[in-house]
Amino acid sequence: MIPHIDGKVNRVRHKNRPFGDLPGFCEKRLRASRAGATIKGILVIVGGWSVMQLLEQRILAEGEVKSSEILKVDRFLNHQMDPKLFLAMAEEWKRLFDGCGVNKLVTIEASGIGIAAVAGLVFDCPVVFAKKTKSRNVSDDAYTTVVHSFTHGNDNTIRISREYLSPSDRVLVIDDFLANGAALDGLITLIENAGATVVGAGIAVEKAFQPGGARIRARGYRVESLARVQSMNPETGIVFC
Ligand code: 5GP
Repeated sequence: MIPHIDGKVNRVRHKNRPFGDLPGFCEKRLRASRAGATIKGILVIVGGWSVMQLLEQRILAEGEVKSSEILKVDRFLNHQMDPKLFLAMAEEWKRLFDGCGVNKLVTIEASGIGIAAVAGLVFDCPVVFAKKTKSRNVSDDAYTTVVHSFTHGNDNTIRISREYLSPSDRVLVIDDFLANGAALDGLITLIENAGATVVGAGIAVEKAFQPGGARIRARGYRVESLARVQSMNPETGIVFC
């Protein structure tokens, strides 16, 4: 389906495999570590690419910079979805948050759901998504908060039924984009109102020139973004951090 990784995802290398066959980028990291730098675990490699490089390449090849603030990735993330890419991303979050006791993933509809559902398979835990509309089949007994939508420009009351969050939960938040941080703030509020613990956030694309990531990290939350955009422009393209 997608030329970059089709058929290659089986070559995802896990951290418990021998180091000897690790290619490219990962080997550079190992060399750096032998030279005295520290590395944390072994990067997940897909067909010779780290997941971060893979996502950056997909963004460069198939993304569209609509404006200096909006990146369109409908070909593989937000409309048509590439589950093999999602799987590789999930493996990387699993590596990063290994040992953190994550027992639940939380995301927000709609674009986070596909990514989080695949991640749920890898983390082997339930996935809950915050709903943006009140429907008859969502219990009134819900945690709620208001979130401003970056893409639609409106405010939504998001909700998660009290049934699906509890104080014993250790939650990893998953989302497709991090911009001003309103969606992530809202999800953190719902989780903490339930008395659950926010272990951190796994984000596909962080637009690091917007303030959300820095602000939420400054509040003490761990945010792991797989691609970080430093700047973008419809004429000149994208620069990654
Ligand atoms: P924030 O709440 O951090 O300002 O924005 C995050 C949410 O807005 C994400 O859930 C995502 O759906 C959407 N979003 C923000 N920036 C972009 C973007 O550049 N492209 C797309 N496709 N969605 C975005």
